[in-house]
Amino acid sequence: MEKSTEDKVRLIANKINLPVQRVYILFSRIGLLSHVSKPTPHWEETSLWFNCMEHASLQALIDKVKEENYILEDGPDLGAPPEHQMKVCSNCRKKKRWDLFFESDKREDGLTLWCKDCLADLNNS
Ligand SMILES: [Zn+2]
Repeated sequence: MEKSTEDKVRLIANKINLPVQRVYILFSRIGLLSHVSKPTPHWEETSLWFNCMEHASLQALIDKVKEENYILEDGPDLGAPPEHQMKVCSNCRKKKRWDLFFESDKREDGLTLWCKDCLADLNNS
């Protein structure tokens, strides 16, 4: 049976010794979670890559996550992001982790005003 994203994240986190949360953020950054939550225009550019990766081997995913971690850290040090990185969604008013928002070039903090859940609801209505 096809492994869920959650399974893959846990497996990869285990293999490369990164906190699960960190791997989620990396997955999110490289567009993998765009399939789970509703894709927004921001993620369209990564959808092509995502389609390739959906059927990619675990090793390919691991390589990509490592690479993304390197880019994010600007170095090989594998560190976890601070747990306190939270933001209040302008729509549901819930305080959520940064990785539960999409990235946005237009915003000062680099994140969308609304959380992924709210944007997904918007796209579904
Ligand atoms: Zn929200």
